[in-house]
Amino acid sequence: MTHLYEQLKAYEGRAAATSGVGKDLVNEPMIRHWCEAMGDTSPAYEGPQATAPPTMLQAWTMGGLSGHTDRSGAYDELFGLLDGAGYTSVVATDCEQEYLRPLRVGDRVTYDAVIESVSERKTTKLGTGHFVTTRMDVRADGELAGTHRFRILKYAPAAAKPKGNRPRPVINRDNAGFWDGVAEHKLLIQRCEGCRSLRFPWLPGCNECGSQEWDTVESSGAGTVYSYVVMHHPPFPAFDPPYAVGLIELAEGVRMVSNVVGVPPDKVRIGMPVELEFLRVDKELELPVFSALPGGEG
Ligand code: ZN
Repeated sequence: MTHLYEQLKAYEGRAAATSGVGKDLVNEPMIRHWCEAMGDTSPAYEGPQATAPPTMLQAWTMGGLSGHTDRSGAYDELFGLLDGAGYTSVVATDCEQEYLRPLRVGDRVTYDAVIESVSERKTTKLGTGHFVTTRMDVRADGELAGTHRFRILKYAPAAAKPKGNRPRPVINRDNAGFWDGVAEHKLLIQRCEGCRSLRFPWLPGCNECGSQEWDTVESSGAGTVYSYVVMHHPPFPAFDPPYAVGLIELAEGVRMVSNVVGVPPDKVRIGMPVELEFLRVDKELELPVFSALPGGEG
């Protein structure tokens, strides 16, 4: 057991908030807003005889923007110790509630909170740190109405992992011709030899006439953004968000998914003209991407 852990353990059982008072009585407007946000249409939560949805328990104790003044020093001290040891990040991990009595319109909410436990040092995907569990006892007009147990992890973020490689394309006999084209800086579109229709992505047969005979045409590389998304989350190791993923309509009429480059992602617009270029991603991989043409951004 480390010296730090002994210090942290000493906070177990100490008050995190004492004699807290909810800023508002239990009231219809807050219940209505909650129910609208949650999509809960139960009649039990309507009208002057309404009870509050049980899961609102914590809402009545929250300080809002202006905060509370009743927070005890112990919680801040504990956070200070963890910060000082390098566990500077915080994430809420889970919450458990127990309901003992309904909260009704007009109830005055009071509460006390206690630091229930501080875990040993744990390593998670996010990083290494300590879990801190706080229990809040919520009272309505002096009577225990429920408990709210809340756990956070105070942690030191894991060191950034080395950047991974961009995923490799899966190349098989049905699409090898496309990648052979990319190697020669050509964007090849399949053309059915039966009905002459163009298709993309590459497929063994024609969706229009069923023919398995095909040749290719080389795209001029001109296109427009038919649709797009800007990726912020989730992060993937080989990608640097934010970045734009576009559905590009080629001048030949087929559409393909690729990155839109050469313009900040928030400037990409539907209908924006783009042109093909080849992006060298790493030693083995080049990809066809689309660069915004000057003046096309929104
Ligand atoms: Zn065909």
